[in-house]
Amino acid sequence: MKTVKVNIVTPDGPVYESDVEMVSTKAQSGELGILPGHIPMVAPLEIGAVRLKRDGGTDYVAVSGGFLEVRPEQVTILAQAAEPADQIDIERAKEAKQRAEKNLQAKQDNIDFKRAELALKRAMNRIDVHENKR
Ligand code: ATP
Repeated sequence: MKTVKVNIVTPDGPVYESDVEMVSTKAQSGELGILPGHIPMVAPLEIGAVRLKRDGGTDYVAVSGGFLEVRPEQVTILAQAAEPADQIDIERAKEAKQRAEKNLQAKQDNIDFKRAELALKRAMNRIDVHENKR
């Protein structure tokens, strides 16, 4: 089976590196599935799960937006924050979700509303990825 090298990198350093058979993720233009040998491209990512298929199994990484860069032999994801499923602190994510929901209910200005919306998305994504639902 052909593979492509995948690196997921954040400002704090690399969080994932592996040779995989397929990378699936959510770009702003829609779901993307990248196979080895894919034509070069760059795409902005949504807050979402990255699924990495390898050796018959699948790794899940929660990504809080960023960019995907595809080259034939290498896929790089540059993310503001990214956590592999087994490194997600589920209690922290649940608390962040509750906090964001509370902030969304409070009548606030648009900037705070947008910020709470994004915090909620990040928290829900972490919870979903932790539970391997995506
Ligand atoms: P919180 O309010 O819990 O800090 P957040 O969405 O505001 O959540 P970020 O600003 O996206 O957090 O991330 C800050 C740092 O904390 C990043 O390094 C991110 O990987 C890490 N992080 C955030 N939430 C979790 C979590 N539930 N489990 C593990 N790491 C997390």
